[in-house]
Amino acid sequence: MRRSLVAGNWKMHGSGAKITGLLQALVQALGDEQEGAEVVVCPPAPYLPLCQLLLQGSAIALGAQNVHAQASGAFTGDVSAAMLAEFGVRYVIAGHSERRRYAGDTDAEVAQKCEAAILAGIAPIVCVGESLEERESGQAETVVARQLSAVLEHCDSESLGQLVVAYEPVWAIGTGRTATPEQAQAMHAFIRHVVQERSAWLAESVRILYGGSVTAENAAQLFAQQDIDGGLVGGASLKPEEFISICKSVGR
Ligand code: PEP
Repeated sequence: MRRSLVAGNWKMHGSGAKITGLLQALVQALGDEQEGAEVVVCPPAPYLPLCQLLLQGSAIALGAQNVHAQASGAFTGDVSAAMLAEFGVRYVIAGHSERRRYAGDTDAEVAQKCEAAILAGIAPIVCVGESLEERESGQAETVVARQLSAVLEHCDSESLGQLVVAYEPVWAIGTGRTATPEQAQAMHAFIRHVVQERSAWLAESVRILYGGSVTAENAAQLFAQQDIDGGLVGGASLKPEEFISICKSVGR
């Protein structure tokens, strides 16, 4: 049985004061939640210690937005998985389309980041998804399979047990244009099929999140789909009432 998961990706937003207010509201509404979805928040890296403190004793988990593939070294501006783990980070986003686009993260690097995270005991949330052009030219499944296979082939079977996949069609991120529940379900089923070719056991247990303009209004319909195990939420995760409502609209 897969437990649903909702992760908030705060991207490069917030300040100490804003994050404190947001987290206090989330902890009050969701902090004791054992029955519903697992909830994760991914703040910008400098706020990880503050969030770790504010989340102490709550059921909300801490996530990060990025990690370097190497354990240490001359990589100015980057952080390693072991460093994240020191601040109680349990999840890390890898291969978000914004990083693929602006920071040039390649499939191979994303796979190495996933491996580094897993070695440090952090579950990677690997993002896959096609652009509008790729969808319209019939390439969506090919692109998603390529991005996912890079990770599945790089990591060993045992460690893949920690993997979470997020299907995030690039054309739906921050655009207000959501995939229909049917479009999302079709791709999630395809993703599970790709995982199944690697391991039948993993296909059953891996959680596949949907991301791309999820709101309180469309969440329940998306999360009701058979192969959608929760969501990766950007913009709406910065609005406490909306994010709480999204988290509560997914069952365990
Ligand atoms: C994201 O950044 O992962 C995302 C899905 O953003 P939004 O919900 O704003 O589309």
